[in-house]
Amino acid sequence: MQDIVTGLEELLGPEVVTRAGDVPEAYRHDWSGLTPVEPLALLRPRDTGGVSAALRFCNAHGVGVVPQGGRSGISGGAMPVAGAVVLSLDRLNRIEEVDPQMATLTCGAGVVLEKAQQAAVEAGLMLAVDLGARGSCTVGGVISTNAGGNQVIRYGMAREHVLGLEVVLADGTVVTALNKMLKNNAGLDLKQMFIGTEGLLGVVTRAVMRLQPRPPHTATAFLGLADTAAVIDMLARARAALGPQLTSFEVMWPSFFHHMSEGTGIGSPLTGRHGVYVVIEASGFAEGGARAALEACLEAALEAGTVEDAVIAANSREERGLWAVRESVAEFARVVGPIIAFDVGIPLMRMDEAVRRCESGIAARWPGALALSYGHIGDSNLHLVVSVPSAGKNQPETEVKKLVYGIVREMAGTISAEHGIGLIKRDYLAYSRSPEEIATMRAIKAALDPKGILNPGKVLSS
Ligand SMILES: Cc1cc2nc3c(=O)[nH]c(=O)nc-3n(C[C@H](O)[C@H](O)[C@H](O)COP(=O)(O)OP(=O)(O)OC[C@H]3O[C@@H](n4cnc5c(N)ncnc54)[C@H](O)[C@@H]3O)c2cc1C
Repeated sequence: MQDIVTGLEELLGPEVVTRAGDVPEAYRHDWSGLTPVEPLALLRPRDTGGVSAALRFCNAHGVGVVPQGGRSGISGGAMPVAGAVVLSLDRLNRIEEVDPQMATLTCGAGVVLEKAQQAAVEAGLMLAVDLGARGSCTVGGVISTNAGGNQVIRYGMAREHVLGLEVVLADGTVVTALNKMLKNNAGLDLKQMFIGTEGLLGVVTRAVMRLQPRPPHTATAFLGLADTAAVIDMLARARAALGPQLTSFEVMWPSFFHHMSEGTGIGSPLTGRHGVYVVIEASGFAEGGARAALEACLEAALEAGTVEDAVIAANSREERGLWAVRESVAEFARVVGPIIAFDVGIPLMRMDEAVRRCESGIAARWPGALALSYGHIGDSNLHLVVSVPSAGKNQPETEVKKLVYGIVREMAGTISAEHGIGLIKRDYLAYSRSPEEIATMRAIKAALDPKGILNPGKVLSS
């Protein structure tokens, strides 16, 4: 193995290769909470040529390669594998172009999402992919996980924002397809193979992202409702009344809302307690337009009894206040302790049943356990965070996963709505994909990476 690392040093230069033992701690794990792993070596090439040379060498020698972006993934997809090298894209961090006419941004895969967002704003436009990890995650990682976020209801997942890609295949072949056009049906749309496939089929080195006009005016409301049925009614009302102005529709069940509002000390924007809480955000181009539409929508919903209580933010400071509990998820470690986190998808009309069954199933099996539910209900995406305080650091992960994923399977849902499979959901893939779907995934993997060097052991079990 030392011969391999020496060969990589000779090929790529010692400034690109860090040997095992010297690999900085940050590159040995991601945000999944899995135990850090020392890779064979860390490779940090400066350009596509370097990525290609590294892959060609590793493929020839049968060495596994784990692509890493910002390591903010929470499914373990970027976790190093013993005996494999880590290929970090963090030096491919150049914004190459913002084209205001075509409304595109071309950049290296290692550009941090927030930096790409800022470049778009400076050009008077907007990159409408946004998530809490924006300061850490990279454009390449966001593409490779087909990331979602709070604005999917309006702008779609990362896939909707990718126009072109440059990808290096397992054998080092560089496929440059930096398309900037919205329409391009010339043969197979190859980029789709590399979006959301978690580094299994190729390494993204550059991307052309689609930009949007930036609505300058926003309006945000916080609602208390009786139950999930009322939330679904409210979602239909908001869609009908706000149309494309509806930017976010986030739901918090009492388990999440009360625990986090009290645990963080943020408190509630409403005086009374309710069966479910919702944050709605609208955005638009005409001054006062989004606010007037949101107000009218809420007035009608209050009159019809769909909503029990509501407050609309008067300014951007109040807007941030209405989002505060929903955004307190970064405080889980402090407020909740060790957690087992889920990002499942459930058909909308069974969401209420799913929340009840998961929460009551966990309470019955582990008295005193926390099961906190919240999510992007407009995308049928339910986040569930479980913690069994009496178990401390040894959370009963396998049993809890079997319980939750069993419910998801019965409801024809998905075990991963947005965070991907990586390592931590790999053994449950068959809960949401048929044998034929999994066999097709394997066939595509075998065709593009016959030696199986890319992200070995991730997503598909061996
Ligand atoms: C606080 C917080 C909030 C989050 N919120 C959301 C959210 O709202 N929605 C959501 O979807 N996710 C969310 N995530 C998860 C995470 O941020 C996303 O999955 C993100 O897209 C990962 O990007 P990254 O650059 O950190 O990728 P990494 O974690 O480094 O890698 C993720 C996967 O992509 C592969 N990969 C990375 N770069 C490349 C590349 N260039 N080519 C090929 N494969 C590559 C890796 O091998 C791995 O399988 C959140 C995470 C945190 C910590």
